[in-house]
Amino acid sequence: MESALTARDRVGVQDFVLLENFTSEAAFIENLRRRFRENLIYTYIGPVLVSVNPYRDLQIYSRQHMERYRGVSFYEVPPHLFAVADTAYRALRTERRDQAVMISGESGAGKTEATKRLLQFYAETCPAPERGGAVRDRLLQSNPVLEAFGNAKTLRNDNSSRFGKYMDVQFDFKGAPVGGHILSYLLEKSRVVHQNHGERNFHVFYQLLEGGEEEILRRLGLERNPQSYLYLVKGQCAKVSSINDKSDWKVVRKALTVIDFTEDEVEDLLSIVASVLHLGNIHFAADEESNAQVTTENQLKYLTRLLGVEGSMLREALTHRKIIAKGEELLSPLNLEQAAYARDALAKAVYSRTFTWLVRKINRSLASKDAESPSWRSTTVLGLLDIYGFEVFQHNSFEQFCINYCNEKLQQLFIELTLKSEQEEYEAEGIAWEPVQYFNNKIICDLVEEKFKGIISILDEECLRPGEATDLTFLEKLEDTIKHHPHFLTHKLADQRTRKSLDRGEFRLLHYAGEVTYSVAGFLDKNNDLLFRNLKETMCSSENPIMSQCFDRSELSDKKRPETVATQFKMSLLQLVEILKSKEPAYIRCIKPNDAKQPGRFDEVLIRHQVKYLGLMENLRVRRAGFAYRRKYEAFLQRYKSLCPETWPTWAGRPQDGVAVLVRHLGYKPEEYKMGRTKIFIRFPKTLFATEDALEV
Ligand code: ATP
Ligand code: MG
Repeated sequence: MESALTARDRVGVQDFVLLENFTSEAAFIENLRRRFRENLIYTYIGPVLVSVNPYRDLQIYSRQHMERYRGVSFYEVPPHLFAVADTAYRALRTERRDQAVMISGESGAGKTEATKRLLQFYAETCPAPERGGAVRDRLLQSNPVLEAFGNAKTLRNDNSSRFGKYMDVQFDFKGAPVGGHILSYLLEKSRVVHQNHGERNFHVFYQLLEGGEEEILRRLGLERNPQSYLYLVKGQCAKVSSINDKSDWKVVRKALTVIDFTEDEVEDLLSIVASVLHLGNIHFAADEESNAQVTTENQLKYLTRLLGVEGSMLREALTHRKIIAKGEELLSPLNLEQAAYARDALAKAVYSRTFTWLVRKINRSLASKDAESPSWRSTTVLGLLDIYGFEVFQHNSFEQFCINYCNEKLQQLFIELTLKSEQEEYEAEGIAWEPVQYFNNKIICDLVEEKFKGIISILDEECLRPGEATDLTFLEKLEDTIKHHPHFLTHKLADQRTRKSLDRGEFRLLHYAGEVTYSVAGFLDKNNDLLFRNLKETMCSSENPIMSQCFDRSELSDKKRPETVATQFKMSLLQLVEILKSKEPAYIRCIKPNDAKQPGRFDEVLIRHQVKYLGLMENLRVRRAGFAYRRKYEAFLQRYKSLCPETWPTWAGRPQDGVAVLVRHLGYKPEEYKMGRTKIFIRFPKTLFATEDALEV
């Protein structure tokens, strides 16, 4: 297999562990740059794959590429996503251990592309199941549907995922994919009613308007022009050159059929999409008493029909708030601002609940049809995690707070699992474990999630005091409760020097990846996520079958408050961490090379930030702290046996003894290596370099 690596493949080092100067960030980045220049976008840190988005089609994901990586060992072929895919799959097959591939990186770094390539790899190279072969198509086709409803053009990425996604693929005992399951996290629903300049709403709206047939649009009461819809004009960029909404719509339409949508269900779904657009065009005018009145009768008419609700009820719900006091119902009229708020809240609720419904629907279609058969019990699972990376913007709010908290949790898991697996490997191989110093970010996770004293608890507590609490009282409470925490700061708690850079309405967290300043404005509202009672009642009466599944009457009678957004998120993250912990992890760390979405541009400042946020230098340090390099005796002997007359051309004895003879012949010093039970461990890269060099002469 030596010939599999060409001179070009060897540009720089293909594993950072082999970097001579491994503590130098400059050397790290230089290695990335040299390889990127040659279109070598993949480099390892031991088993972790670092990937730099090439922003061009490199033709490296073909069927031939897939074949090249099947059944070969990591080091015999150039680094590639498929090598990670195949390694995980083989462990799943031979050791029957569940796997989890965790893909991280900032927006536009290539997480979703990587996830899609991995799925394709499994769909194309795994054996077909005996029954229910359609599941492969369903696994693949769930993607365009989820992307239509959950992705949007942002300033950072023309196809940005606005939700986190974890997908399990289930394999039967023969290694054939037989089912799947998706968990989704925190859809950015504020996008439904507002987009920043240069950004769009979710793809599906534009797709439907561009690609929907005349007859459908007529039924939905829609015009083709996105400019007609207030919810689509805020970003002023309905058309995007890299996106073909019309052909994307065709793909989505077909995909819906593959994932078991009936014609009726498609119709119901599109009615909801259209009703969100109509809602956006509902206008209000103030009467003499400054109370809001709906002025757009036509929109109201369409909404009534599409949502299957009573017109008068909807009108009342959009302009009044129902309060129950002492068992009596009171209707209080809304002013213009309040009515607009209610309308937008309804649009967000309708859309985000439909998204949740969609995920459930897809899960039903992906559920293994063989669940009852005996083979089901022996299924193994491979999980793919495509979730938002660390975010720092000019202005950071509740959403960034949740996203960055999520990254803290995943970083914790990463530390735990990498260190743990290093330790386990040394133990299994009978080699003394040398502890490594690293920053444990548990202190930050606790700061956010601890009961009573954590930021989320304090936020929830404030959300229980409607009318009294405000975003600023929340901040004060934070200041009172978390006074002297090394990772927490506000204007009041800061010293003279740092105070200048903090406003009064802000708090700052020192995350593992760096400082982020959050503005508390909107925290309470976003965490509460309230929908006025009469809007809920209206939706519960909906005759649209999807809506009636999304809004349940039990919500109305339930005395218990629903969990807040942050608490729900926290609980879903805890569940995710448990899922991931029970599996063997593989990591893909994605890097975005420039902000211009252009091929060939390597923006060093931007990349240095990401190397830091992703904790790559620390990862490398941990990996290097023990032995830089390890390989099974068989593989090591196979590769280097030509360097020693006693092992060439064949070694008849145990591979371990052959390796012992070989390294003695090569002059390895005792402190340079250790012999484990099945592997040789080499401490310094230079030892291996010398051996590699000897091969080439
Ligand atoms: P977000 O967090 O915003 O969802 P992401 O990390 O999922 O971002 P992707 O959508 O996967 O980013 O990638 C952004 C774009 O970069 C893709 O639409 C594609 O044009 C390009 N791209 C990413 N990975 C590759 C690749 N391996 N080869 C070629 N182009 C790529
Ligand atoms: Mg994505």
